Amino acid sequence: MPKKYKPDTLGIRAGGMRSSFQEHSEALVLSTSFVYASAEEAARKFAATGPEDNIYSRFTNPTVRMFQDRLAALEGAEACVATATGMAAITTMVFGLLKAGDHLVTARGVFGTVVPLLDQIAKKFGIETTWVDPTDLDAWKKAIRPNTKLLYAESPSNPVLEVVDIAGLAGIAKKAKAVLALDNAVASPALQQPISLGADLVVHSATKYVEGQGRVLAGAIAGRADLVSGPLFQYVRTAGPTISPYNAWTCLKGLETLGVRMRGHCANALAIATWLESHPAVERVLYPALESHPQHKLAMKQQSGGGAVLSFIVKGGRKAAWRVIDAVELISNTANFGDVKSTICHPATTTHGRLAPAEREAAGIAEGLIRLGVGLEDPDDIRADLERGLNKK
Ligand SMILES: *Cc1c(COP(=O)(O)O)cnc(C)c1O
Repeated sequence: MPKKYKPDTLGIRAGGMRSSFQEHSEALVLSTSFVYASAEEAARKFAATGPEDNIYSRFTNPTVRMFQDRLAALEGAEACVATATGMAAITTMVFGLLKAGDHLVTARGVFGTVVPLLDQIAKKFGIETTWVDPTDLDAWKKAIRPNTKLLYAESPSNPVLEVVDIAGLAGIAKKAKAVLALDNAVASPALQQPISLGADLVVHSATKYVEGQGRVLAGAIAGRADLVSGPLFQYVRTAGPTISPYNAWTCLKGLETLGVRMRGHCANALAIATWLESHPAVERVLYPALESHPQHKLAMKQQSGGGAVLSFIVKGGRKAAWRVIDAVELISNTANFGDVKSTICHPATTTHGRLAPAEREAAGIAEGLIRLGVGLEDPDDIRADLERGLNKK
């Protein structure tokens, strides 16, 4: 696909392939394996080390390839490998790139499940992690050791919406000869392209805005071909955290509406954030597109919109937060976000409930914090649904 096309066009057209049936909409190829014209061809395809041919759907499938190529085009990446979930992508990144004795630096406040992945599982295999305040570039610098191979951050982060200076971090990674990986699930490539800011890899929970309607779990890593088509592809091929072709197809079709969805999501979220900020029951709103956000300027330099995840702290702690959540009738009380349906949750007792209180506090997850995934319903209806609980005593 020529580079001249704009993102909305790439989301709809990039990576598309047509079979001999001449189908117009991309085909869902549900087949575990693919046939060869001869024994010689089979031998040649098996000897290949890259993802060029269709062999077996643990590592090569035409529908999966279309999804990978489309996401790569949107991220401005050389290559992309899809995985079963976002956590499978992060696991692939860690175990595909690192070995025993290696060290990585990551941001406090990354997606909750990453904490036990690194502190318990990766540690068991001799991979050491240092956790830093993501907004403090000096802390990243100080954490670098001679064996540091990977820097990993989320921006904006979920659920506290901290913004990382991606270009600044890329400079630190480059000097340390380490790989910089950015989790772009919250912004999506429609709003932010970390590779253009110097990241080597972009990690996705495609479960969120890429798919966009809360139907399937999926993940992906896009970025430098020497990493993605090399050790990361080999990890997926061998360890098998493979995406199902059906899920890849759902994400592929999801990308076709990503641009228009994200514009709608951002407009709704900004309207809700602005309203919440002026509400007497609300202590603080965390949303990058608000001027009150501590990294507002940086966020608006890196992102073309604020995104649709916002958090707010209500006065009165857990009790008040639960009151708002229990009063909603329209918004779904569920841990997911990245859906056209608005979602609400209480991170301290759900997604981040497994963290020790001190870890939670360090990550900025207050008892009164409510995370909202602002959907595409009419913003007046979303506002009215929140108002009910906020006004309760
Ligand atoms: C949801 C999420 C993940 C994990 O993705 P799954 O698809 O649920 O495995 C990782 N990072 C971020 C930022 C997420 O929001």
